[in-house]
Amino acid sequence: MRHTRTDYHVHPDYSIDASPVRIRDYCEKALDLKLTEICFTTHIELDPARRDIDNFVVFQGERLSVFNPAWLDGYFREIARAQEEFRHANLKVKAGIEVGYCPGCEKYVEKIVNNYPFDFVLGAIHCLDHIAISSMKESPHYFQNKSLAELRKDYFTTLEEMVGTGLFDCIAHVDLYLRYGLKYYGPEVLTIHRGVVEPIFKEMARRGMGLEVNTSSRRRGLEEFHPTREMLTLAAQAGIKIFTVGSDAHSLDQLGDCIDEALAVLKNHNLYNHVYTLRQAVPC
Ligand SMILES: [Zn+2]
Ligand SMILES: [Zn+2]
Repeated sequence: MRHTRTDYHVHPDYSIDASPVRIRDYCEKALDLKLTEICFTTHIELDPARRDIDNFVVFQGERLSVFNPAWLDGYFREIARAQEEFRHANLKVKAGIEVGYCPGCEKYVEKIVNNYPFDFVLGAIHCLDHIAISSMKESPHYFQNKSLAELRKDYFTTLEEMVGTGLFDCIAHVDLYLRYGLKYYGPEVLTIHRGVVEPIFKEMARRGMGLEVNTSSRRRGLEEFHPTREMLTLAAQAGIKIFTVGSDAHSLDQLGDCIDEALAVLKNHNLYNHVYTLRQAVPC
């Protein structure tokens, strides 16, 4: 089996924090980069406590509540057009979503994934205590009030819950707390997963869930990808078989970032990159 070059984490102009780059422009760039498949993963954040901060998408140049389904109709139409346009160039285009998990959001996630033909539903934890640990600006407000033990408990309890909902195909950047936490807490934070992530990985394996190798860490000066090699080894030992690679591109120049290196990391661990169609994973 060869390792096909894919990018399974791409934010087009529907995400509020992304550059105004359209789906077809990313597809053109994917062709330039000789990717064989691209999956768009527009980001929705559903925590009602953050209603005025990030419960939005951008649709037709306007901010729209994520709970207004008009954007999804437009999103699927645009992806269908790109699928048609790029079919002849042998670029597969997939419809995905990145859901920022928060306890209580299950009903809405269920509603949209049952109503729209998603290929790929990516689950992520961006917020703890209603604070975005994914944000350079917000994360210190969380970190300054939390010991490492508290971060460990908050993060992995939320991860366990998210996995247990059964709503997600794959988990994005599973050690995202390292993005800004490594600088804040120092190298000790690199080991907080030990003893707590293993049973969660086992449960993911049991459910046939995937784990993403996310290369965005490099753009933030981290040495390793998300997850670190140590965590990837634990995932493999727990029996997870499905992996995807994603750049988490928020602009055109970030598409396909470090994808070859991410594929090499998978290969070194004897693991396979996967693609999804209508939420079914196949190795590629
Ligand atoms: Zn994310
Ligand atoms: Zn993302």
